[in-house]
Amino acid sequence: VPQGLSVRPLRTALETAFGSRATFAKSASDVASEPGAYILAIAIDRPLTLAAGRFAGAQLSPGWYLYAGSAKGPGGIRARVARHMRADKRPHWHIDHVTPCAQRLLAVGFSAGHECDLVEKLRAVPSFTVPIPGFGSSDCASCASHFLRWDRSIRA
Ligand SMILES: [Zn+2]
Repeated sequence: VPQGLSVRPLRTALETAFGSRATFAKSASDVASEPGAYILAIAIDRPLTLAAGRFAGAQLSPGWYLYAGSAKGPGGIRARVARHMRADKRPHWHIDHVTPCAQRLLAVGFSAGHECDLVEKLRAVPSFTVPIPGFGSSDCASCASHFLRWDRSIRA
């Protein structure tokens, strides 16, 4: 793992937003199967240019990105996170164009949580910024995006 993509400083920023009970899971089996919301932490280790859809041509520089989503269906958060972590899925959401390029993919589940609340708490931490306005939040009228970049040069 390149030093720039160590999860430790990101974990500190996550704790600033949610407290120490929020911990990253490496596997979907470590998150709850209840309905709620979740955060995916996505490490990109090389520049990524989105190729498809409304955001084609948008560029992501290497680093950590967080995506907040909701999981209300059967299997709850665990089933949704498991889908995100599968390599062979058919792209459906914006984020499906990013996750296949992830060098690391981690998840935090929030039982009974709501994705916009997660975004609001993250955005209260200055080091979480919006790289692509509108990305991942087509269904949301209130958030600038449900996809955030963690800028380690900005002090949490
Ligand atoms: Zn929202």
